[in-house]
Amino acid sequence: MPKIIIVEDEDDIVTLLQYNLEREGFSVVSETNGGRALDVVAAEHPDLILLDWMLPEKSGIDICRSIRESNDLRNIPIIMLTARGEEADKIEGLSIGADDYMTKPFSIPELIARIRALLRRAQPSPSKGVLEFEDVKMDLATCRVTRGNRFVHLGPTEFRLLQFLMEKPRHVFPREVLLKEVWGADIHVELRTVDVHIRRLRKAMNDGGEKDLIRTIRAAGYSIDTNIPPDEAE
Ligand code: CA
Repeated sequence: MPKIIIVEDEDDIVTLLQYNLEREGFSVVSETNGGRALDVVAAEHPDLILLDWMLPEKSGIDICRSIRESNDLRNIPIIMLTARGEEADKIEGLSIGADDYMTKPFSIPELIARIRALLRRAQPSPSKGVLEFEDVKMDLATCRVTRGNRFVHLGPTEFRLLQFLMEKPRHVFPREVLLKEVWGADIHVELRTVDVHIRRLRKAMNDGGEKDLIRTIRAAGYSIDTNIPPDEAE
């Protein structure tokens, strides 16, 4: 039974979510205070977090950032819930490490579809072993990524993206293909979402000043490659 933590300060939304998620077979824990959210997440170690943006004491954005910086918690998938519908907010939410984003009022069936898609995406890969390209090493069994001696901290969506690119180095994948393979064909996700997660992946990969290995081919897609033309470098 997958465990979901709801961090949300509006009681009626918590009640609605809890009722519907439990009916779908999830185990649910809820927390209304942003300041306590990290402790609850660390104690419960859920399979997924539904995280409200505006919370008392500590905002959802800060909580998300802390989770992604934590060695123990960084793999937990996060869906941000927010009353703010601006495109810029969505991009900010995804770029600080959320895996998905829903604007209130949301449809419960759509939220559940997104939860299921994200849980699938975050599952350990059935293929074990190690993928290697240049100084990048991905251990699929332990979900550890290194560049040389440095650990690369990736959330579940970035891990899946990198794994997909690493399985076929130098092959250019259109964004549509990445969406289908990484996010799944059953939910609607905008193409731009792929760009946001690629940007995040690239930042994590190059954080130690390493050479950029992710190639952006304008209007075509992305690949992992050693030979990046200067005009494509970001
Ligand atoms: Ca709120």
